[in-house]
Amino acid sequence: KDTLAQTDPELAKAIQLELQRQQRNIELIASENFVSPAVLEAQGSVLTNKYAEGYPGKRYYGGCEFVDIAENLAINRAKELFGADHANVQPHSGAQANFAVYFALLKPGDKILGMNLAHGGHLTHGSPVNVSGKYFDIVAYGVEEDTGRINYDKLREIALQEKPKMIVAGASAYPRAIDFKRIGEIAGEIEAYFFVDMAHIAGLVAAGLHQNPVPYADVVTTTTHKTLRGPRGGMILCKDRYAQMIDKAIFPGTQGGPLMHVIAAKAAAFGEALKPEFKAYQQQIINNAQALAAGLLQRGFNLVSGGTDNHLMLVDLRGTGITGKEAEKLLDEVHITCNKNAIPFDPEKPFVTSGIRLGTPAVTTRGFKEEDLDKVAEIIAMTLKGKDDPTTQDKARAMVKELCDKYPLY
Ligand code: PLP
Repeated sequence: KDTLAQTDPELAKAIQLELQRQQRNIELIASENFVSPAVLEAQGSVLTNKYAEGYPGKRYYGGCEFVDIAENLAINRAKELFGADHANVQPHSGAQANFAVYFALLKPGDKILGMNLAHGGHLTHGSPVNVSGKYFDIVAYGVEEDTGRINYDKLREIALQEKPKMIVAGASAYPRAIDFKRIGEIAGEIEAYFFVDMAHIAGLVAAGLHQNPVPYADVVTTTTHKTLRGPRGGMILCKDRYAQMIDKAIFPGTQGGPLMHVIAAKAAAFGEALKPEFKAYQQQIINNAQALAAGLLQRGFNLVSGGTDNHLMLVDLRGTGITGKEAEKLLDEVHITCNKNAIPFDPEKPFVTSGIRLGTPAVTTRGFKEEDLDKVAEIIAMTLKGKDDPTTQDKARAMVKELCDKYPLY
């Protein structure tokens, strides 16, 4: 019966402070969200006690009959949400899911064509410091300097010339829709595997607001905690013909026992995503992103590619006299949380950068609407333009508080 506050006040205090930070700040980190109390409850459940190596009905441990129910719910809901033949819901994270895909389909030294990290790709798509870059031969495609968009003709040229064994699509900082069908056709031409990591946009895909990669890709991975609004974790979807290889690559290939409490929370989140309200939520994320983008453009900021089609945007701070690192810190001081982010062709180092990445999934969960996002644009403009004026900062903090009080969290 002892509560954490009674048994470990030091730790309880840290958790309490983090809750207060989430309540106090406007959260614009594009990869974050606020899960429902139901998802929190599932994740905080006794399922954390259970070892269940293997898959439902084929476990290496006894006593798995009830965790099997939870995992089957997660699997079946995931398949229904995305129209997939097969789902593996055990990856502990997005990076684990991606690693397992490479382990299943490739041999060390094979060539992968992925999106350049400096242009919005992800670490696990071939960065030299990641296992993907160390064990495989990486070639990259990127965006055009003038448009900020992927040039599919150039991607095709690189693919025909390099003949990679796999093409990877998906991004962490790309504000535009991705044409998975087109990239799938290019992969088909050279008989390469087509692997899509839809981590950022999975919620939009589930709601039918972004092209679904599942019909076109051999394998699709996602995180479950971004627009999809589930617990921190990963998932792999694939065609039936890859099901066994993928399952084996997760267990026993790269993981041990699954986190059954997290899988239960994934089932809860997928259940929520199947409801009609989820589509309205995802549409509001996009509407809010458009409102924030318009608000920033009106106030003189530049956005990579000139705007957004999805849940995020990249503010190009070149010419403002402020780096991404400085902007992140200034905004944090007025209780707006975001992250510095390299923009394509960034002249600054990755730890400094010339950009910030802003996303609307979390504030949309709180209830923010278009007019609120225009106020957020105003606060950002005030804070960055009035950076040396402490009265501006006080005013910005008060405006943030007003918005956060209007939409209470938890
Ligand atoms: N893939 C993409 C496109 C991502 O943006 C991310 C996370 O930022 C990941 C994979 C990795 O997910 P995780 O942090 O759960 O390992």
